Amino acid sequence: MPSPEEALHHARTAYEEHVRTCRQCHFDQSPCAVSKLLLRAYNNARRAQLRPDTAMR
Ligand SMILES: [Zn+2]
Repeated sequence: MPSPEEALHHARTAYEEHVRTCRQCHFDQSPCAVSKLLLRAYNNARRAQLRPDTAMR
């Protein structure tokens, strides 16, 4: 099972990678659906790292 730090790192990497490579995000100048999903996962991972005791519930 990945640690909260690893999960956060993966989520952030996935999000940044998407923003860098996604045409729709660049074209629209606004986040696409995938981007929003990844950003939400990133926020969740960040919250989980801040409060590890409540993350898995
Ligand atoms: Zn996108």
